[in-house]
Amino acid sequence: VIIKVAMATCSIAAGAKEVMDVLTESISRKGIKNVIVEKTGCMGYCYAEPTIKVIKAGEEVVFGNVDKHLAKNIVDEYIENKSEIEGVLTDKDNKQMKIVLRNCGSIDPESINDYICVDGYEALGKVLFDLDPDKVIEEIKKSGLRGRGGGGFPTGVKWEYARKSKSDKKYVICNADEGDPGAFMDRSILEGDPHSIVEAMIICGYAIGADEGKVYIRAEYPLAIKRLQKAIDDAREYGLLGKNIMGSEFDFDIEIKYGAGAFVCGEETALIHSIEGERGEPTTKPPFPAESGLWGKPTNVNNVETFANIPVIILNGSDWFNKIGTERSKGTKVFALAGKVKNVGLIEVAMGTTLREVIFDIGGGIVGDKKFKAVQTGGPSGGCLTENDLDTPIDFESLVSRGSMMGSGGMIVMDEEDCMPSVAKFYLEFIQDESCGKCTPCRIGTKRLWEVLEKITTGKSTIEDLEQLKVLSEVIKDTALCGLGQTAPNPVLSTLNTFLDEYEDHVKYGK
Ligand code: SF4
Repeated sequence: VIIKVAMATCSIAAGAKEVMDVLTESISRKGIKNVIVEKTGCMGYCYAEPTIKVIKAGEEVVFGNVDKHLAKNIVDEYIENKSEIEGVLTDKDNKQMKIVLRNCGSIDPESINDYICVDGYEALGKVLFDLDPDKVIEEIKKSGLRGRGGGGFPTGVKWEYARKSKSDKKYVICNADEGDPGAFMDRSILEGDPHSIVEAMIICGYAIGADEGKVYIRAEYPLAIKRLQKAIDDAREYGLLGKNIMGSEFDFDIEIKYGAGAFVCGEETALIHSIEGERGEPTTKPPFPAESGLWGKPTNVNNVETFANIPVIILNGSDWFNKIGTERSKGTKVFALAGKVKNVGLIEVAMGTTLREVIFDIGGGIVGDKKFKAVQTGGPSGGCLTENDLDTPIDFESLVSRGSMMGSGGMIVMDEEDCMPSVAKFYLEFIQDESCGKCTPCRIGTKRLWEVLEKITTGKSTIEDLEQLKVLSEVIKDTALCGLGQTAPNPVLSTLNTFLDEYEDHVKYGK
């Protein structure tokens, strides 16, 4: 029997350490043989933490909301007496497909041997000894993988640009500066499967001709940093990082760089400046980082989720990956499902799955069986989708055509009681705080937008304010320097578009 205790940040906050202690202590006190208790990453059931998975005679059962009492009961009744007990979570995985999260919730993230047991570093061996760099890039291009950080740019093409840039020095950067409100995909991947990122970065380094990698991660992610650092140290000890990796002639090493939690540092030029010790402010492109990035050298930047796809694409082949998803959006997408949905948590679905399936089948519907009102995808740069959009397949193009975007994977569900102008104000408040201040439309414009929304939501507005919201939003979109400012008005525009009556009610009734 193997008992796996989810020990991600969310699980630990809910009491997983105590549960692990009770399990270990009960098993040893009773002298039960052949039971192993080990930690693992997030299984995705954030609404029911702490969670544990019991693997008995090849069968897996997940228990949720495990407290000391249930932990003891699992040992006494479920394992020792072989009786059925309450606390088993129903299967919410049936509409999911786990490629990125393949190891999260199953391996011990702090054990390199666990990762190796699930074919870890096999893709690296294949790349180093069977494929030349151009073939690796061709394989990633053929797979159809697109960047998961929000932009959706084809990953293989990005790698190709960096490979073609001539230089004596190149860099690979992993963007782990996750900052959207409600998003925790990258943190969970790093906490649950850090070696997959290390392996992918080495593969990328080999493909583009870089010998140095940096992971830019926000300092507010201490557990992810700890596990990633251990993965890097262990990989180095096993000859998987450093000089002559796996006995080949390829050298590559990785270093962690801490971000101070500025949302704008998720933008790749701002991120690069921050690593260089400069202010985290974006600059205009071109030049793109693939030509002139870190310290002016060609640099490839991908986010955590994009990298997590790489080893498995190399191992299973581009054809395998290319068959998953839709015509133009291949593979899967991880979402942090949050808000007024019953099963809040980390999920992964094949591209093309509908919003309805995510919110009602996987998410279990709305808390208190209230009416669904809207879902915000794409974080502060995205928009609110309504009841009419529920059958929209999740892919890059479809979400944009409905007035929102994929973004990095935050998905916040709202019910009939949520006030949409207040939702727009929340995002504007966030953006206003996070604006780096470099350009006027964003620095001053988002503040003015917020002020108008404040007037509206506190019942002090006139009908002219609605017109001003629209005009100001369009000006900011057209004139801000970087993506943060250019997309900042999106939550305002999308809620004005679909929930104009709510704005008008605020004006009319002064509430
Ligand atoms: Fe900075 Fe905003 Fe201008 Fe981007 S748009 S450069 S975040 S002020």
